[in-house]
Amino acid sequence: MKFGTKVIHSGLEIDPSTGAIITPIYQTSTYVQKKPGDNLGFEYSRTANPTRQALEKNIAALENGEYCICYSSGMGAADAIIKLLKPGDTIISNQDIYGGTYRMFEQVFSKFNLNFKYVDLSNNVDLQDEITKKTKLIWLETPSNPLMSIIDIEKIKEQVKQYKNQKIIIVVDNTFASPVLQNPLNMGADIVLHSATKYLGGHSDLIMGALVVNDIDIYNKLFLITKSCGAVPGPMDCFLALRGIKTLNIRVNEHCKNAIKINDFLSQQKEVGTIYWPGRADHKNHIVAKKQMSQFGGMLSFRLKNDSFKHALQIITNTKLFKLAESLGGVESLISHPASMTHASIPKEERKKNNISDSLIRLSIGIEDGDDLIHDLKQAFKKIT
Ligand code: PLP
Repeated sequence: MKFGTKVIHSGLEIDPSTGAIITPIYQTSTYVQKKPGDNLGFEYSRTANPTRQALEKNIAALENGEYCICYSSGMGAADAIIKLLKPGDTIISNQDIYGGTYRMFEQVFSKFNLNFKYVDLSNNVDLQDEITKKTKLIWLETPSNPLMSIIDIEKIKEQVKQYKNQKIIIVVDNTFASPVLQNPLNMGADIVLHSATKYLGGHSDLIMGALVVNDIDIYNKLFLITKSCGAVPGPMDCFLALRGIKTLNIRVNEHCKNAIKINDFLSQQKEVGTIYWPGRADHKNHIVAKKQMSQFGGMLSFRLKNDSFKHALQIITNTKLFKLAESLGGVESLISHPASMTHASIPKEERKKNNISDSLIRLSIGIEDGDDLIHDLKQAFKKIT
């Protein structure tokens, strides 16, 4: 099936008991058994639930993966991945990542004697200089949050192949691209992570995470962690995600079209300095983005030439359609200020090192009419004093 068909049909079956075309919300915690162990495939909803199972089959197909596990949030999914490791292991992560992931690494897991090493992996790094015997996992976020750096997934895989005996797991957080634009398993990733809160759900009405894998051994380990630790989503949220995904393909195409228009508009504004959007020929990783993504996505950040926090604040508080809010990937456009919002948990010095400057503004470009979005930004720029 092509992608536009998969979103609507993959993993979904007509409900056997009623013929309902839509997967019902199986709002139940438990399932009656004839005798212990004799059941219809479900025992307790922390372990498995039919609505969740349909969603998992659907998302697995979108990422061309064998298995998917859904979580109660993207961070719940990330937490399950780190629990694959043991004290003393080292994780190499790209330095430009979602602030919440950084917080989880540093404030939750480093005290369990896990070591996190941050490297600019968008820079054609020679991993031989970074990998040691203790390296067990490589964490990539591409495009990254908030600077839209792109990491060459195939190149990372190529380098990691030399360390076969170490079984280094490559994780790609594919939240920003969505499976419409990029399928990391096809490029050698072992685990794909989604904050399904974002493009998959697409309507800013749920919090959810998902992991997709091909390797049965990794799947079994993740399944054990998930049923033991319990960060699973409820059936109502799974229903909302299934409903959202049906329009994922057409939504993401619209996000991308609007991003092209907004990039053009911002390029002409005298106040705007660097624009971070992988579709730009001057983006440092444009060539890699062209190779591994089918389009360049609806996430775009920019900074002001004078790097004025005051002016950035004037812009983000004066837009009307672009709502000032955290999160991304919904049909409605959002504007945010990473230094004081999504990345506030990263120390200022660390933020500065990673180019998250005080005037950096991040847009999650929605699917409203592109001309209205430009008009909205135009009137906000006019209010700069
Ligand atoms: N990964 C990325 C790239 C994100 O932007 C986010 C949230 O913003 C997460 C993971 C965490 O997802 P959630 O908020 O669903 O826990």
